[in-house]
Amino acid sequence: MQQMYDVLIIGSGPGGVGAAIESKVLGLEKILVIEKGDNHSQTIRKFYKDNKRVDKDYQGQEVEIKGNVQFLDGTKESTLDYFDQLIDNEEIDVVFNSEVEKVEKQEGYFLVTTAKATYKAQNVIIAIGKMGKPNKPSYKIPPSIRQKVNFNLERCTHGEKILVVGGGDSASEYAVYLAKENTVTLNYRKKEFTRLNSINAKEIADANGEERLRLRMGRNILSLENESGAVKVNYDDGYSVVYDRIIYAIGGTTPVEFLKKCGVALDEGKQPIIDENFETNNKGMYIVGDLAVDSGGSIAIALNHAFHAITHILGKK
Ligand SMILES: Cc1cc2nc3c(=O)[nH]c(=O)nc-3n(C[C@H](O)[C@H](O)[C@H](O)COP(=O)(O)OP(=O)(O)OC[C@H]3O[C@@H](n4cnc5c(N)ncnc54)[C@H](O)[C@@H]3O)c2cc1C
Repeated sequence: MQQMYDVLIIGSGPGGVGAAIESKVLGLEKILVIEKGDNHSQTIRKFYKDNKRVDKDYQGQEVEIKGNVQFLDGTKESTLDYFDQLIDNEEIDVVFNSEVEKVEKQEGYFLVTTAKATYKAQNVIIAIGKMGKPNKPSYKIPPSIRQKVNFNLERCTHGEKILVVGGGDSASEYAVYLAKENTVTLNYRKKEFTRLNSINAKEIADANGEERLRLRMGRNILSLENESGAVKVNYDDGYSVVYDRIIYAIGGTTPVEFLKKCGVALDEGKQPIIDENFETNNKGMYIVGDLAVDSGGSIAIALNHAFHAITHILGKK
């Protein structure tokens, strides 16, 4: 007979790892985590620069941890080490390199399907975040310059003229970091930064004051063109500037098709509908982490969602 899991968790970022730890600590025995990548926390691995400062109160949001995972300020590396330890200490079973394709409700349980296997579970936690598909601009990216139009720092080297686009903490951190070895402009469509935490607000103000980077505020980009292999950016103030590289740090997209394949009802803005316990219309199926918020998720927020959802599952027993 196929194993019936108490909870099957899809995704092993902070929300998924948090849900697994809370399950173990609070007394759910049969749990399984399924992760698309070859290791946990793919968003942290792919989008955080090396040695990045990781703030618990990200984007200026002060969060009190409610559950059993005591998350503190640290770095990319210390955060990944911490999640490694949590997974090891609680002996969490994670199936890596497995992407969940759909979840179907059967009589009294869920059937979870990956390309390699199917699994049965009483409850499902969807914790897949939004960074599987980073947000792209609405204007066209000419295919011939796609290598120069990036959504993280993987392709960056040094000595380049770089435009970073975005107004959140990730954009500001990318800009300050890249400005150490490159000529950097940070472009934000609004005239002021409103979402930066105090450390990043100060770092941006200092870098701007000392002319270590240039701010281009209150300006929208209208289009991109290829100019001799470089990226020509046409702004709405009539000016055009050529950069070696452009990096968008403008968040991620809700995986609408995936949610539809799980039978999750969406609102008019294509956001999943969840109640105060993070439960969807499909009773027993929960959404936690970045996917449960319109914008402005964080590691601590994802951990709190996970604690709340698992507590709710236990309350039903
Ligand atoms: C550049 C940047 C800097 C940031 N800095 C901070 C910070 O300093 N402090 C802070 O608190 N927050 C920070 N954040 C936000 C934080 O990373 C997110 O809020 C957090 O990672 C959300 O956790 P999550 O579990 O919801 O999703 P994610 O961390 O995105 O994890 C989702 C996981 O699900 C997996 N997955 C996706 N689809 C499937 C599938 N179909 N099947 C199986 N697995 C799947 C992914 O591979 C991934 O491992 C930052 C974000 C970015 C982009």
